[in-house]
Amino acid sequence: MTMQTTKAAAPHTQTFSVGTQLGRYTVERVETLPEMQGTLLLLRHELGARHAHVIREDDNLAFGVTFPTVPKDSTGVAHILEHVALMGSQKYPVPDPFFAMAPRSLNTFMNAMTANDWTTYPFSTRNVQDYFNLLSVYLDATFFPLLRYESFRQDGHRFEFEKLDDPSSTLKLQGVVYNEMKGAMASAGSVMWRSLGKALYPDLTYAVNSGGEPSEIPNLTYEGLRAFHAAHYHPSNAFFFTYGNQDLGRVLEEIESHVMSRFAPQSLDVSVPDQADFAEPRRVDVTYPGSDTERGGQVLLAWKLGRSSNPDLNLRWSVLSDVLLGNPAAPLTRPLIESGIGSALADLTGYRDSFREGAFAVGLKGLSAGKAAEVEKLVLDTLAGIAREGIPADLIASSLHQFEIGQKEVSNSGYPYGLQVMFRLMGPWLYGGDPVTGLRLDAELESLRADLDSGRRVFEGMIEELLALPHRVTMVVTPDPLLASQAEQAERELVERLSKDFTDEDRARIVRESLQLQSLQAQESDPNVLPTLALSDVTPGVQRPEYSTAQEGRALVGRVPQPTGGLTYLDVQIRLPEVPADLLDVLPLYTYAVTRSGAAGQDYAELSRRIEAVTGGVGASAGVGTAPDDLSAVRLAVTFSGKALARNGGALVSVLHDLIAAPEFTRERTRQLLEQRLSGMKASVVGSGSAYADRLASAQVSAAAVLEERFGGLTSLATLKAIVEGPEGEQGPEGLDARIDALLGQFAQLRDLITRGLPLVCLTATPDDIGLDVQPITSLFVGDAPTGRPVLAPLVTGPQARTTDSPVAFNAIAYPTVPYTHADSPALLVLSRLLRSEYMLKEIREKGGAYGGGAGFDTRAGVFSMTSYRDPHIARTYQVFRDARAFLDTPLGERELTEAILTASKILDPLTSPDTVGRLRFYGDQAGFTPEVQEAFKARLLAVTLDDLRRVMDTYLTPERAAYALVAGRDPNVEVEAMGLKFEVQGV
Ligand SMILES: [Zn+2]
Repeated sequence: MTMQTTKAAAPHTQTFSVGTQLGRYTVERVETLPEMQGTLLLLRHELGARHAHVIREDDNLAFGVTFPTVPKDSTGVAHILEHVALMGSQKYPVPDPFFAMAPRSLNTFMNAMTANDWTTYPFSTRNVQDYFNLLSVYLDATFFPLLRYESFRQDGHRFEFEKLDDPSSTLKLQGVVYNEMKGAMASAGSVMWRSLGKALYPDLTYAVNSGGEPSEIPNLTYEGLRAFHAAHYHPSNAFFFTYGNQDLGRVLEEIESHVMSRFAPQSLDVSVPDQADFAEPRRVDVTYPGSDTERGGQVLLAWKLGRSSNPDLNLRWSVLSDVLLGNPAAPLTRPLIESGIGSALADLTGYRDSFREGAFAVGLKGLSAGKAAEVEKLVLDTLAGIAREGIPADLIASSLHQFEIGQKEVSNSGYPYGLQVMFRLMGPWLYGGDPVTGLRLDAELESLRADLDSGRRVFEGMIEELLALPHRVTMVVTPDPLLASQAEQAERELVERLSKDFTDEDRARIVRESLQLQSLQAQESDPNVLPTLALSDVTPGVQRPEYSTAQEGRALVGRVPQPTGGLTYLDVQIRLPEVPADLLDVLPLYTYAVTRSGAAGQDYAELSRRIEAVTGGVGASAGVGTAPDDLSAVRLAVTFSGKALARNGGALVSVLHDLIAAPEFTRERTRQLLEQRLSGMKASVVGSGSAYADRLASAQVSAAAVLEERFGGLTSLATLKAIVEGPEGEQGPEGLDARIDALLGQFAQLRDLITRGLPLVCLTATPDDIGLDVQPITSLFVGDAPTGRPVLAPLVTGPQARTTDSPVAFNAIAYPTVPYTHADSPALLVLSRLLRSEYMLKEIREKGGAYGGGAGFDTRAGVFSMTSYRDPHIARTYQVFRDARAFLDTPLGERELTEAILTASKILDPLTSPDTVGRLRFYGDQAGFTPEVQEAFKARLLAVTLDDLRRVMDTYLTPERAAYALVAGRDPNVEVEAMGLKFEVQGV
């Protein structure tokens, strides 16, 4: 809604043609992008910098600068550089300009990412002034970073004595990236990702861990870091991207004066050569820290394909991968799952174009040891069978239809649309291919269609070629219960080895440097050197997209006309009547299973083929809400949603109808689904530990959060585990059928409850398609059961610790507060932003060495919480949480307050797109969160004072009201004893 874009100047009406000079830039190509109603310009600067500009009617302006970075070792140099580049630059010499900038901006996206062979710095915003503020900070950070020695030590690696100033205490390795990578390498998925590159491309840059291997990170020198920057972060090696309805000339002038004018051309060979072909298939064994030897294994077969910048190959492999694996009934997926050998497809399954030569991988997870040969044979035999028998034409048509949806859809879900465009374009661009083919594949599609029409065995031929390829790797992934402790042991040995020749002088230097870093971290810096926005940049209103409502039977139907690119979105939210307690726990299993099973006489395979043929996907979820003025008025709803090309609107209605009214579950399919979900949830614990800890703490102080814990917390994991593996104490396969039969009985009750609920239907489509008949759905709901008001007691009380395979901890604390319309609610939201950026970042991340720390206020559940992410500490972090009140008495001024209010206002103005803007408004209005209620909240928010923050903290965030939970690899009780805390410890 910040509409201060350059509409008046309408820069997109300016015409560019090939050869146009814009300063030292030359327009090399102009291409129309009809699917997205845009134009692509490709420009080249005299220094060699490449620039892609996409002109499109979108007020969310985007920018990115990307550097090919090809590390030759696993010291994590590219990753550490990405961190250190963001820690002060010539024009902005503050310790953390990137983090300091976030609260001075209304950005809709800010980040930096290190991939295999490139590093990118993207952002987006709806405010033009903000765009140029961020542009200046990004350009300075990437091209003129200070790369201070202290920054290298803080975020890279350093030696530190346990007691900083005591050289006789234990010596330790520290560093943000060092700890981040210790945490990252704890999950099977990320270990496999690193291993895949190494296995398939052993001679290339992909063989090294670009993120950094913890044991090798200490080998990176400060000089090495600086040299890597000088070579790679240079205009001649840069790929710029700009997007939106904006003044290109002004952007280029800014880049010229800030960057280009200060460099001379330089050449650097960042090209990645071809990997020499294997003479025969290989096998690699990979372990990750884990104790689930029964179900923690995976086997993945992977092949090296041709260049991923070849658009024909890329398109054909994308489509074939979808044909083979795109849905549960797909010809490769189904036999693999139904074999019963594993529970789900292995991580990394599918086509990958993120290597210069692409890869195709497929396998199974949820395995016990010794299954490699079996899985290998199954995959190869199944593929051979598919090639022999031929792929039915309707499956190919379905996948092409999915591809069409992908090309047409305009959505800010996931990444902002402008950055989605950047990533699509970058694939071929960075590998020397034609960037246009990342956005527009009409010629390639036409040639594919012609080949298919001529009756050629296109995909069967590709499968046969694949099977004949000797360049194949079978990756056997096994959990190793001892690995975590071995890693600790290895770290101790590493420290010993690296420090064995330390002299007293070396030890004195470590103490000196540690104290230096500590005092630097304690130094107040003045973020006012950074550009900023003011509170007047926040629009006082909220979005009010037009929609109409009509009562259709028991259902209220909202219709939202939007420029959706020709897609139709349908949401059916059903408010449930009273739900018995035992059914609450299995509701998330129901919503998981219902879209993956059969319905209306079709088994799951037939139904999933139908879903793929006529929709762009369907989903079901259980959600929790409260009234704006009453936290105990908990409302429970199930939502079915889907999208489709407008021509398939009626078919979408029919699919959702069948899912709601006539789902069909079988014992066998349900068992598969439960096992899949269990392995997915188990794997997510180490990556989402903070969210799990936060939910578990919140569930002790809020009724809505109790439901969220039962739906998506560790409690739901325990429920699922008890069904699949048997109740605690009697685990084993016995009784599984009986447990599933009991669950299916509960599913039947849930189905009945759902059809007795109160439906709110929201249709979003182009004005031409908005009249879609939804009566088949609305007529389903009969009766007059009142909407239920679940009364929920806490599941657990007292500090809760959940232990899992993790070398780091995830700590959380939560407090009960007030509902949305309460006068103190806006101040609590502002307080959470203030603590997050001014306090937690410094204490938890910079000083504590955790990867992240946060504070949040859940306005719907009325819970205020603080968390840490991948944290080496427990007791220290809880002390930091407790000391937050004292921090509010340190000198804080207008700047801190303004920044906190700005960031809070972003939560009230989320980035929307045609697919989401209307449904948010419709469901918000129906739940009582009307524009008037939201605008009143915003008006209060803009008027919050520092005294308000101290007052709400004293009122609500007191030690007696606190609830604690953590996820960690160790029992915390010895560490926290002195704080008067005692955790109840359970395994995950
Ligand atoms: Zn990182």
